[in-house]
Amino acid sequence: MWYHSTKQPDQRIPLKEAILRSLPADNGLYMPQEIRPLPDEFWHDWRRMSFAEIGYHVAHSFFGDDIPADVLRTMVEETLCFDAPLVQLAPADFVLELFHGPTLAFKDFGARFMARLMAWLTRDEDRELTVLVATSGDTGGAVASAFHQVPGTRVIILFPKGKVSPLQEKQLTTLGHNITAIEIDGSFDDCQRLVKSAFLDADLSQRLNLTSANSINLSRLVPQSFYYFHSSRMMPEGVDPAFVVPSGNFGNLTAGLLAQRLGLRVKHWIAATNRNDVVPAYLRSGRYEPRPSIATLSNAMDVGAPSNFVRMQYLFGDDWPRMAASISGDSFDDDQTRAAIREVKSLYQYEIDPHGAVGWLAARKWRAAHPSTPTIVLGTAHPAKFLEVMEAELGQGSIEIPERLACLTHLPSHAHHLAADEIAFRQWLNHA
Ligand SMILES: *Cc1c(COP(=O)(O)O)cnc(C)c1O
Repeated sequence: MWYHSTKQPDQRIPLKEAILRSLPADNGLYMPQEIRPLPDEFWHDWRRMSFAEIGYHVAHSFFGDDIPADVLRTMVEETLCFDAPLVQLAPADFVLELFHGPTLAFKDFGARFMARLMAWLTRDEDRELTVLVATSGDTGGAVASAFHQVPGTRVIILFPKGKVSPLQEKQLTTLGHNITAIEIDGSFDDCQRLVKSAFLDADLSQRLNLTSANSINLSRLVPQSFYYFHSSRMMPEGVDPAFVVPSGNFGNLTAGLLAQRLGLRVKHWIAATNRNDVVPAYLRSGRYEPRPSIATLSNAMDVGAPSNFVRMQYLFGDDWPRMAASISGDSFDDDQTRAAIREVKSLYQYEIDPHGAVGWLAARKWRAAHPSTPTIVLGTAHPAKFLEVMEAELGQGSIEIPERLACLTHLPSHAHHLAADEIAFRQWLNHA
């Protein structure tokens, strides 16, 4: 299978380059050259398959020409070492819990698969691979955990100072070994800009053997499409759900669109954002106006210039009315998010994290006009990752902290500190 940049669809690139380069030089994003719908045999059996088997078939559609079947199967099985339960809050109101992985956010799916794919693609090389990643909260932890102590790799994580939760920060800064964290005096968008500038510096990129682990990397998107299939088949036969996706960089939603191109039937998409509502505004008006991000309670969605938007446009042929017919957008502020956390608790005895709460608000509003369609809200993070917010709404001790998070609080943090300055950052990298 060949891949290409969204900006140059006629230039074919092999898998290894698309995954390890991550970002094309023309500033577009890589996409598979073709997306083949899953064969009839798959649809005959998919409701009975294990989660890993579904994942294998989906991954095979994208990577099957390049990766031997047994290797791909193992990659998928190792990625899915945890479950994704579908929780029913009310008859048509579901939450898909994607936070049972090692770092308690859905990003474990993408990061675990990507680490395995990159290790396989570079198995014959003796040069170390440097994975550079900007995080607004959860990406960094998932990537750090996925690559921790993987031979031949090191990871450099940029995070915005004071804008990630204390536990998220612990997940980034306590692993050590081949994991380095840099605290940037700026916003997530600044971190993302610094990462981009390093990649666009051809010498640096070549010398450090740089690769990216952000959701711009195609290998992160593919495993995120697995769970759309997995949850959809839990609906009664013939009932197509609407998916509500709490969104920031729109990787998760793009992965859903890929699942749909493989043949998954989806009634509608709902892009739920906090006040960083660039995409919902575009869906309403047809005008795309990125702007600086605003800090909110759902910090992993504080993105003012969502990187996967170009993939969404590409998938809809740059046709706004077509995209707006498939995807609705809605946004909610912090007060509404806080109220939703309390309401979900009092209605259903369920603790929903601030990102999920934004999704739940969007689901409720959409369902009011479409009562016969079940909604599946993607539960993107475990509430314990946002303990301060949760306890402020639900009271101290209201959230049980999973063991693997609790033990982090006692470990010492190590981070470098840099200004949000491209030159300073590239200089630092040159000596790293
Ligand atoms: C990353 C993240 C999001 C946003 O996902 P995108 O794929 O960037 O849209 C939402 N919620 C949580 C908890 C996240 O970590």
